[in-house]
Amino acid sequence: MATTKYIFVTGGVSSSLGKGIISASLAKLLQARGFRVTIQKMDPYINVDPGTLNPYEHGECYVTDDGAETDLDLGHYERFLNKPTSQANNVTTGRIYLDVITKEREGVFLGKTVQVIPHITDEIKRRIQMLGNTGEFDIVITEIGGTVGDIESLPYIESVRQLKWELGNTNCIVIHLTLIPYLKSAKELKTKPTQHSVKELLEEGVQPDILVCRTEYHLSQELKRKVAQFCNVTVNAVVESIDAESIYDVPLLMLKENLDRTVLAKLKMRTGDEPNLDKWKEFLGRLKNPTSEIKIGLIGKYVELTDAYKSIRESFVHAGSVNECHVDLISIHSEHINEQNVSHLLGGLDGILVAPGFGARGIDGKILAIKYARENNLPFFGICLGLQCALVEFARNVLGLKDAHTTEVNPDTADPVVDMMEEQKKIVMKGGTMRLGSMECNLKKNTKAFLAYHSAVIFERHRHRYEFNNKYLSAFEENGFSAVGINPESNLVEVMELKKHPWFIGVQYHPELKSTVDNPHPLFVKFVQAALEERNHRAQKQSVPMEEKDTVYVE
Ligand code: GLN
Repeated sequence: MATTKYIFVTGGVSSSLGKGIISASLAKLLQARGFRVTIQKMDPYINVDPGTLNPYEHGECYVTDDGAETDLDLGHYERFLNKPTSQANNVTTGRIYLDVITKEREGVFLGKTVQVIPHITDEIKRRIQMLGNTGEFDIVITEIGGTVGDIESLPYIESVRQLKWELGNTNCIVIHLTLIPYLKSAKELKTKPTQHSVKELLEEGVQPDILVCRTEYHLSQELKRKVAQFCNVTVNAVVESIDAESIYDVPLLMLKENLDRTVLAKLKMRTGDEPNLDKWKEFLGRLKNPTSEIKIGLIGKYVELTDAYKSIRESFVHAGSVNECHVDLISIHSEHINEQNVSHLLGGLDGILVAPGFGARGIDGKILAIKYARENNLPFFGICLGLQCALVEFARNVLGLKDAHTTEVNPDTADPVVDMMEEQKKIVMKGGTMRLGSMECNLKKNTKAFLAYHSAVIFERHRHRYEFNNKYLSAFEENGFSAVGINPESNLVEVMELKKHPWFIGVQYHPELKSTVDNPHPLFVKFVQAALEERNHRAQKQSVPMEEKDTVYVE
């Protein structure tokens, strides 16, 4: 068996330089050359996983098929590579320590002092090589979270140093992502921060092989030479990463800079044919040349932070491209919606999406927005809590159950139309205990959902504790809000559809987690189409009085 090659991506100078996008873009290029690639993220915080983190901290929590609650970068990996990731693709310091401490309690290290080196670093190295040892991948890209020099990332850099020594420089390379800032007053790009950041890495024992330099302006050959000379890398290993219009441009920008070729040369791997990116380019072409535009209201309580709904935003990019339609996502804070302003806020929109979430904050605004969409034939897409709010709204305003609620918000409601799942009631621990991961759902034929998926059996990812209370199902069905997707094992309702409405669908699962460039999610694609129809419909309606007026005038 050929040995797996390892690429480490570290970051310097500043956070938020986009290690995730660079890793995903490089992986895309290598995949397009025929290599089997996966990407892993190491997060240096103490939480065992990001499932217990508020989205304001690190953005959305991304869930994999196998039910791991992970960093949102895994979403980029899947969207770029169109391959599922798993628990093994995201490791935190908390998980490493938990494993080591559990082993210590079991007596595995009996008699030994348990230390950062070698015990924590050994566990990090084991986790890195776990993916490589499956034999499923030619190349594993490991992104080290944080910035070089942080106290927290030291054990990771030390593990990289050891692995480089153990596996050799042709099996293990380091790409360091840095920033070349432009000083306006001096009208100059500055290389010193990069030099210092490489020095920092060197102090920790690691010589980077390739430098990817984030910049607002093109880097001259002269500047690249200077960086190469002072940072001890070859000139072709200084790669420009200029600000891009879209994250989906980055693979092509990296191709232009030969990042993939340089990587393969350093790893002594064949380059072969040029990467086949035809599908990717088609996607970009449609994305950049839309023939129509729609406005979708994204209603949630974390809208201030774009990363909080990352996968939903990206799903609209994919679905927009399929429809050659620019989707203008208008963030609407659910706490700001009230009876007085709801029609003003939603009146100009072509559809609304009510986002997932937890807790009571902003619920009333979501319910009001859904009522407006239901009554005004405005396309509506509810995801997880979004579906649950639609159930509460329907129970109150159509079934006349005025006190109806989800027990998450009102545990004493007379009509718990959304209630905690039976198996959740005994659980006290918060971390990793929700209904998580991929589950089967059977769709009823001739429903909008079925027509979108073209399949009666689908698998979607979950992350919730509450569910539709089946006691109320017949009342909902009799009044035209039907369960069209059901989990065959548990009978839990997964998809609800309002019959007498152009497009009103709520799902208990998270379709946004499975939308990729190669496979835009069918529900998002259909929702965008429904919104386009709504827009055309409204445009026609608006033009009718004009014509009537003309006729009157002629008469
Ligand atoms: N808070 C709801 C639940 O736990 C919805 C979760 C979500 O939107 N992901 O069921």
